[in-house]
Amino acid sequence: MTILERLDQPGGRARVFEQDGFTFDAGPTVITAPFLFEELWELCGRRLEDDVDLRAVHPFYRIRFDDGDVFDYSGDADLMRREIRRFSPEDEAGYERFLAMSERIFATGFTRLGHVPFDSAWDMARIVPDMVRLQSQLTVYRLVSKFVRHPKLRQVLSFHPLLVGGNPFATTSIYTLIAYLEREWGVHFPIGGTGALVRGLLGLIDGLGGELRLNAEVTGIVVEEGRARGVKLADGETIEADVVVSNADSAWTYRYLVPASARRRWTDRKLETARYSMGLFVWYFGTRRTYPDVAHHSILLGPRYRELLDDIFGARLAPDFSLYLHRPTATDPSLAPQGMDAFYVLSPVPNLEADVDWTERAEPYRRAIEAHLSDTVLPGLKDEIVTSRVMTPLDFRDELLAFRGAAFSFEPILRQSAWFRPHNRSEEVQGLYLVGAGTHPGAGVPGVLSSARVLDAVVPDPVAGR
Ligand SMILES: Cc1cc2nc3c(=O)[nH]c(=O)nc-3n(C[C@H](O)[C@H](O)[C@H](O)COP(=O)(O)OP(=O)(O)OC[C@H]3O[C@@H](n4cnc5c(N)ncnc54)[C@H](O)[C@@H]3O)c2cc1C
Repeated sequence: MTILERLDQPGGRARVFEQDGFTFDAGPTVITAPFLFEELWELCGRRLEDDVDLRAVHPFYRIRFDDGDVFDYSGDADLMRREIRRFSPEDEAGYERFLAMSERIFATGFTRLGHVPFDSAWDMARIVPDMVRLQSQLTVYRLVSKFVRHPKLRQVLSFHPLLVGGNPFATTSIYTLIAYLEREWGVHFPIGGTGALVRGLLGLIDGLGGELRLNAEVTGIVVEEGRARGVKLADGETIEADVVVSNADSAWTYRYLVPASARRRWTDRKLETARYSMGLFVWYFGTRRTYPDVAHHSILLGPRYRELLDDIFGARLAPDFSLYLHRPTATDPSLAPQGMDAFYVLSPVPNLEADVDWTERAEPYRRAIEAHLSDTVLPGLKDEIVTSRVMTPLDFRDELLAFRGAAFSFEPILRQSAWFRPHNRSEEVQGLYLVGAGTHPGAGVPGVLSSARVLDAVVPDPVAGR
C-alpha cells in the first residue's frame, strides 16, 4: 500500500501549522463519533487510547447571538433543558420531540445507511420509504421549525449542516442526526491537538507496512480499457497498481485525473454545473495573553441568519458574517507558549464561483473580523496578536486541489446525496475507488471515516482475492 500526498506533510484539511511556538490545527476541531476511530484502531489490532488522549469538551458550543445573548449547547440533558427554558419555556416539549426525531433519523441515516456503498439505483430506490417516513425531503431548518418556535432556538438547533458544508435552508433534514450523535457520544478534542489523530493514523499505516510519500502529486489515473492500471505523478513517474483509491477531492479526481474519454456520468459539464459547498476564510492567530472566559468552541452569530446564508450559497461575499471561534488552549494549554492562547476563527464565505479576488480582499476581511472579535469576546485583540496566518478559498483550491475552492466538496443536498454522489466504487472506471468528503456519505470527520468503512466492503482484498 502506497499513499501519495502532494503536500509536504500529512493530514490534508487536518494538517498542522506550527508557527512561532503555537500549534494551529488547520481544519476539523469538533471531533464527534469517537467510536469510529476506536473501530479503526481495533481493525488494525491496536487501541485508540494507547495512541490518542481524547478529552470530552463542555459545553459543545457557546453560541453568542448578535445582541449578546448566549446559549450554552451541551450534551447534558438537564443543562440543555434549562437553556431552552431560559429562551422559551413553551419550546421545551418540542425540543424533546426533536431529539427523539433526531435519534430515529440517526438509526436509519447513520447506523443503517452510512456504510452502504449506494452503487446501484436500486440501493436508492429501496430507501425511499424510509426517507418519506423521516421527512428527508424537508430541509434541516424546516424540520427544526416543526418542533420549536423561538427564532433563536431554531438557529441553535439548525446550524449543524454548516459543519459539513451545507446550508440549513437547503440541506436534507437527514443531517439533523448530528444532534443525536453529539448528545450520545459527545464532542471531543485530542490532547496535542487534532495533529495527534493524524500522527496516530500514520502509526496505523506504518503498522500495516504501508508507505507514505510526501510531495508526490498525482496528475493522472492511468485507465486502460475501462480499468485503472496505476497513477502518473507530477515528476513523470508512473506507479502501477491493480487498485487505485482516490482520497483527492472527487470532483477534482473526475475533472482532472480521470480522462474525459473514460467518463460517462461525471462529464465535465455535470461537474461544472453541480453545486459545491461553501468556502471558508480561516484566520489562525496567537495572543500574548489568555482569554480564560472564552469557551473551547464558540459560535458568534451575526445579525442575519437566512439572508446571510442566501448570500454565501448564492456566491455573494457579504459585509457581515457569522463566525466559529476555536480556542484549543482551553483544553490543552501546551498548544501555545505559556500564558498565551492559540485561536482560529472561521467565516463561511462563498466558494470560488463568486467573483471575489481574495488576494486583495483577505486582509480587509481579516481586519473586519478582528474588529468584531475585539468588540465582542476578545477585547483589545488588535494589540495582543503575536502571530497570524490566513487561509482563503484560493488556498483550498491551490493547496488541497479542492474544486471551486469548496471546503467540503459537493454541497450535501438531497439530489447530491447517497447514490447521487460519486460512488465509492467508481461507476466510471473498474479498480478505482473513491473515499473522503466528496463521496458517500459526505464531509466531516465521521463522514470521511464512514466512507473508508464502505471501502472495506467493496475493495477486493489482495490476500483473500475477493
Ligand atoms: C477549517 C475546517 C474546519 C472543519 N471543521 C470540522 C469539524 O470541526 N468537525 C468535522 O468533523 N469536520 C470538520 N471539517 C471537515 C473535515 O475536515 C473534512 O470534511 C475532512 O477532513 C475531509 O477529509 P478528506 O480526506 O476528504 O480530504 P482532505 O483532508 O483534504 O484530504 C485529501 C488529501 O489529498 C491530497 N491531494 C489532493 N489531490 C491530490 C493529488 N492529485 N495528488 C496527491 N495528493 C492529493 C490533499 O493534499 C489532501 O492532503 C472542517 C474542515 C475545514 C476545512
